[in-house]
Amino acid sequence: MELTILRPETTVSPHYLARKTKIPLQLVEDILTSLAHDKLLDTKFIIFCNNGDPELVHGFEFVNKKELRDFIVKNKFLCPDCGENLNTQDIRVAFLKKDLPHKAL
Ligand SMILES: [Zn+2]
Repeated sequence: MELTILRPETTVSPHYLARKTKIPLQLVEDILTSLAHDKLLDTKFIIFCNNGDPELVHGFEFVNKKELRDFIVKNKFLCPDCGENLNTQDIRVAFLKKDLPHKAL
């Protein structure tokens, strides 16, 4: 499967994997979520601001939902870099392959 050729610290999105593996998106999400639960993958939450200029859209990454929520509340739903609204409708979840030590035989 695609995951095996990813380098450590590579980010994968469920949509990308579903496209590459032709596995239904819902199933991919279930697999990734359970891998993350088993601590084989790290998850990352990413939110973007609604800046009208695509060049100036800011993205912010968080390691868990609590940090993300705290950030949104602290900034009153506004981007700290440009003052536009944070796009809370489109929060991305990314999965990160961990650099696991080789298992001893
Ligand atoms: Zn911004």
